[in-house]
Amino acid sequence: MAKTILLHVCCGPCCIMPITRLREEGYAVTAYFMNPNIQPLAEYLRRREALAAVAEQMHFAVIWDDKAWNMTRWLADVAGRQDSPPARCAYCYSTRLDASYAKAQALGFDAFSSSLLYSKYQQHEGIAAHCAALAAQGKVDFVYRDFRTDWQEGIDRSRAMEIYRQPYCGCVYSEAERYAKKLLKLQSAQAE
Ligand code: SF4
Repeated sequence: MAKTILLHVCCGPCCIMPITRLREEGYAVTAYFMNPNIQPLAEYLRRREALAAVAEQMHFAVIWDDKAWNMTRWLADVAGRQDSPPARCAYCYSTRLDASYAKAQALGFDAFSSSLLYSKYQQHEGIAAHCAALAAQGKVDFVYRDFRTDWQEGIDRSRAMEIYRQPYCGCVYSEAERYAKKLLKLQSAQAE
C-alpha cells in the first residue's frame, strides 16, 4: 500500500513540483493549507483560490485550516521581531510546520513535508532542520527533498496552468519590503 504524506502547502504554484515528485516516488499526497502569515485577507483568499485550482487540475485533496487565520493575533505574536526577517521568518515557519506535524500525527499520516522546501526565497536549511527536529519525536517521518532543483519547471507549469503567482512572500512586512524602493523614490523626489 502507498505511504501517505501530509504536505504543508504554502501556495498553489509552490506545491506543483513537490506533489509531482512525491507521487513519482509512490506517495499518496494530501495537501494541508495552514498559512496565517498570508496577509491581508484578500490576498489569503486569492492564494487559497489558486491552490484550489491546482488541486482540481492535479486531483489531490486539501485540508483547509482557515481557522488559523487571524491577522491581529499573528501580528501581535510576531511583535518585536518584525524588522528582523530571520527571526520573524523562523517564527512564521515554526508555527506552520508545528501545526503540520501535529495534524499529520492526529490524522495518522506516515510522513509529512512542506512545499516551503521548493522556494529559493525561503530559509531552506532552517526549515529542513525544524522538520527534522519535529520528526525526532518519533511520531511521523519527515520526508526531506530539495525541491528547489525543479524551480523553473514549477514556474513554467504554474504559468501553463494559469495559476495566480503572488508578488511577495506573504506577511504585510514582506509586502512593504517588496515595494520599499518605490516609496523611497517618491520620498527622495519630494525631498528635492
Ligand atoms: S517574509 Fe514570508 S516567511 Fe517571513 S515572516 Fe513574512 S510571510 Fe513568513
